[in-house]
Amino acid sequence: MIIAIDGPSGAGKSTVAKAVAKKLGFSCLDTGAMYRAVAWRALQDGADLADEEACGRIAREREVSFGHVAGDPVPRRVFIDGDEVTDAIRTAEIDRAVSPVSAHPAVRKALTAQQQRIGRSGDYVVEGRDIGTVVFPEAAVKVFLTASDEERAHRRVRQNADRGVGSLDFEEVLADIRRRDAHDSARAAAPLKPAADAVHVDSTGHYIEEVIDMICAMAREAGAR
Ligand code: C5P
Repeated sequence: MIIAIDGPSGAGKSTVAKAVAKKLGFSCLDTGAMYRAVAWRALQDGADLADEEACGRIAREREVSFGHVAGDPVPRRVFIDGDEVTDAIRTAEIDRAVSPVSAHPAVRKALTAQQQRIGRSGDYVVEGRDIGTVVFPEAAVKVFLTASDEERAHRRVRQNADRGVGSLDFEEVLADIRRRDAHDSARAAAPLKPAADAVHVDSTGHYIEEVIDMICAMAREAGAR
């Protein structure tokens, strides 16, 4: 079974996806990390981020994979080929680079194929922007998770503090979130938008636990044990 969780940055997708996966015994796929890893490789290679062919080649030829931290069933480590990029893909530099890279159809085509291969290997909670619309339109459960811009920026700052990487400046994070939302929503290829059959959940002011329980209930209704 696939549970698709889409929505803008900082809406709580990662937290919710990991918790739902743990409760249901599913695996978890963070597709944003895959776009971030490709953007990281492009910057390392000195590629022009506007060059679709160069970015597409990276997405086709470099494999993004995930690894576990001891004792945690949800994968948290990220690799591109042999390089571990778990922390390197969370910097403000990658926040800026990832939207132009992810807008290239050649990049999306390659990563969508990888995501479909991974997701079809078992039960997955998949988080991203286009999971319910493009990657897994047949997903058993589709959620479009949002929250106010300010709440999302607060959460992202807290997450950056916990991870020890990324900006702690609220205004900078808020501006980045708004810029990425605009870019991700306006692009021609697989823009950020809810699937017609997605359940909309606004997590502003809600305890994230309520959202997690609601998605687990939807999954059980759809046949998850
Ligand atoms: O989820 P996260 O904020 O890490 O995603 C980083 C970026 O990757 C997004 O801003 C978006 O440009 C891109 N992305 C995407 N499609 C997905 C997941 C992420 O275009 N399915």
